[in-house]
This record gives sequence, structure tokens and C-alpha cells, in this order.
Amino acid sequence: MATSTVKKLALKMPVCTSCSRPIPPYERGVKFRCPNCGEFIIWRCYKCRQLMNPYRCPKCGFEGP
Ligand SMILES: [Zn+2]
Ligand SMILES: [Zn+2]
Repeated sequence: MATSTVKKLALKMPVCTSCSRPIPPYERGVKFRCPNCGEFIIWRCYKCRQLMNPYRCPKCGFEGP
């Protein structure tokens, strides 16, 4: 492994599963495990919660509100 200066991004923002938009920390996004497979963490931004946008688990294809 090379010893290089690690320049990480200040914050790795989660991406909304519904609209694939990054969710900034100040936004009240929600995260929960997929109710079907329980493996994938579903993220939903504030907007998608308000609009009740559907989400789809990329792991098992489960769709839900
Ligand atoms: Zn969204
Ligand atoms: Zn799933």
C-alpha cells in the first residue's frame, strides 16, 4: 500500500433511493433497511417523503412507499 495523503471528502453524503439525489446533512432524510431483504439501507430525502415517492431496493427489487 502506498503512503499517500488521504484527502477524503468532508462528508460522504447518502443518496436518496427514490430520486438519487445526494442528501445533505442538514436535510431531514430518513434511512431504514429494506423491509424485504433487510440488507440494503434505503435513504429517502425530505422531498421524497413529502411527495410519497416510491423507492426500489436495488438488491431485491422490492418497491414500496
Ligand atoms: Zn429523494
Ligand atoms: Zn431489498
